[in-house]
Amino acid sequence: MLKVGINAYGTIGKRVADAVSKQSDMVVAGVVKAHPNYMSQVASKRFKLFVPDKSYLKSFQDAGIKVEGTLDELIEEADIIVDATPEGEGEKYKAIYEKANKKAIFQGGEEHELTGLSFNAYANYEEAWGRDYVRVVSCNTTALIRTIYPLTSFGKIKVRANLVRRATDPDDYTKGPINSIVPDLKIPSHHGPDVASVIKGLDIETMAVKVPTTLMHLHFVNVQLPREVGKDEIMEKWKGLRRIAFVSGKDGVKSTSQIMDVARETGRERSDLYEIMLWKDSVSSKGGELFYYQAVHQESDVVPENIDAIRSMFQLKDKESSIRETDRTLKIGDLVYGR
Ligand code: NAD
Repeated sequence: MLKVGINAYGTIGKRVADAVSKQSDMVVAGVVKAHPNYMSQVASKRFKLFVPDKSYLKSFQDAGIKVEGTLDELIEEADIIVDATPEGEGEKYKAIYEKANKKAIFQGGEEHELTGLSFNAYANYEEAWGRDYVRVVSCNTTALIRTIYPLTSFGKIKVRANLVRRATDPDDYTKGPINSIVPDLKIPSHHGPDVASVIKGLDIETMAVKVPTTLMHLHFVNVQLPREVGKDEIMEKWKGLRRIAFVSGKDGVKSTSQIMDVARETGRERSDLYEIMLWKDSVSSKGGELFYYQAVHQESDVVPENIDAIRSMFQLKDKESSIRETDRTLKIGDLVYGR
């Protein structure tokens, strides 16, 4: 059993911890919390809890939260660290993992250059084979790759995508905007180059705006295909992939809030939707041009990718076997509604 240490138990870290504990080839060695708050109390009931360093011990002790030790001790005990610290922090921690000679996975808030390998299970599982450091790309980038990568089998494609980004996650009361739409004035937004760091050579440009919602991101995607391809042929490519699910306005699913209701009503833990939710009514293919809308549950779509990255880095299973096992254990593709 591979021992996985998780540095930070926030939006991504707590989900990766739960996903690891559902696998039969890995266990959670422990999780790191930096603040003795309600989430630390929850975490300490489920996993061995560690703190970043000794200076944090007293505040946890004062709050009556049991701590097993410090990050250094967790690194010692673990075979790999999944770093889910806030954007930019992973870079600082990498030197510590390297010094301890431990493998590590970083998240999309870090730069591609930190590991030299940005990961998506469908697109480049094999490239992480045996590697020591891998970065799982962000929620938006993961979503774009999931639906765009299968289209590359038609030949050379050109992608222009617009992203409507949720302002922040549901548990965060500190960030906005509250009454504004905020365009990302850097064009292309970082998402396009990030997709191209995984699907090498892809012609892609992206623009993004931030809006006052916390539930999901929404993408408008336009793909120029090398030839006229019928909607059915395109749908067939996507239907073979469990990490893409379909919704329809005809069923009354016309908004991201209803998609999240699908997650709640179909019994998903935490209302997580690991799948990219694609509106099948929006899929329009004419004259070699494809258009579609997709919605992204930013808190969870990268979680299965972290599990597959671990397996590839330790050469535990081939691509198909790993994806199948991750999907089976997380019930991906099992939505009562949405296939
Ligand atoms: P988060 O803010 O929800 O959680 C981060 C956790 O780290 C918090 O529990 C915080 O207390 C803890 N922390 C803060 N400073 C720390 C430190 N110095 N050492 C250890 N722990 C510390 O963040 P998140 O949303 O889970 O993001 C983590 C990473 O995942 C980022 O790179 C982010 O870009 C990426 N990501 C986030 C999302 C998302 O939608 N939230 C989606 C995909 C990828």
